[in-house]
Order: sequence, then structure tokens, then C-alpha cells
Amino acid sequence: MTEAELKDHLSSSGAFLEGHFLLSSGLHSPNYAQCALALKDPAWAGKMGAALAAAWQGRRPDLVLSPAMGGLIIGHEVARAFGVDFIFTERENGVMTLRRGFSLPKGAGLVIVEDVFTTGKSTLETAAVAEAAGAKTLGALSIINRMGARVLPFPSVSLLKLDLVALPEADCPLCRAGIPAVKPGSRKFQ
Ligand SMILES: [Zn+2]
Repeated sequence: MTEAELKDHLSSSGAFLEGHFLLSSGLHSPNYAQCALALKDPAWAGKMGAALAAAWQGRRPDLVLSPAMGGLIIGHEVARAFGVDFIFTERENGVMTLRRGFSLPKGAGLVIVEDVFTTGKSTLETAAVAEAAGAKTLGALSIINRMGARVLPFPSVSLLKLDLVALPEADCPLCRAGIPAVKPGSRKFQ
């Protein structure tokens, strides 16, 4: 899978849109990413998982750990490609935790897999869950990285790095140009 093929799939599946968007954060952006749409097709989910596992330069992890919901499908596919187990963290009363009987073997080396790195917050919270259990985060993988200049405190790999600028309405050049902003996920995109 080349980067051009990936970009093509992201845009044809509606996972990556260009225009003028009002994000749920209230900020305006010229792009919008919704990876769930790119993962609808299991064959593509498998291809992206295999590509991430192949791009990982570190040692083979003992398991893959993802934060729900965004990391579930791609994390499972990366685990399939590595031939290891997949488990996930989720929030309970706002705190990232392992539920459903999942546990992390002490000393296990894992990679964290997400659909998009945005602020890195959920990745760091997931790494903290691993650390508390005595497991080691070897690195983190994602389909899209839109962290800009921010970096994670361990090795990371993404299939696509995007510069998604999100700005308050007052600073939005698209508003100034008189282009109407639309909410992603609204009927206009169906
Ligand atoms: Zn705007």
C-alpha cells in the first residue's frame, strides 16, 4: 500500500474531507478526519493493520493495547499482523482503565495503537495504565498523525502525517473568505 493509495482510500471512504468544517471542539478547520469510515471495509482495515506492523522498527510486541473506541478496529488488525493478543482500555468515570477481565502480564512489552494521534492524551493515559500494571510501552502506532510539533515520549509510527489546522472562528481564514462552515457527519456528507 503506497501513501497515495492510502490517501485515496481515506478520501473516497469519506474518512478525510477537505473544505471548511466546524469541529465538535467548536474550532474551524480546512480538513476533517473520521477514521471509522476508512475502517468500515475489513479488507482495508486489515491492509492498514499490516502496513503499521510492517512499518514498526522495534521488537515484536507481546501484545497490542488500544484505547476504546478509536483504537479498537485498527488495534485488532495490527495485533493480527503481529500474531499477538489485543486488549483495550476504556474510560470508567473519566479514568482510563482495563475492564472486562483484561490484564497485562508484568514485564510484557506492548505497542499502543490508535486511529488518530491528535493531542496524544489518550495514548499517554493508555501508557500510564500499562506502566501501573508493570508492562512496558515499546511505542505507539496510528493511521493518522495530526499532532503537529508535539511528540510522544516513545517511538511512534503513523501511516500518514497530516497538518490539520484548527482555529477559533475569529482567526479562520475560510470564514473571512465567506465560505460557509459545515458540521462533519451532517447529512451534507452522507
Ligand atoms: Zn471558519
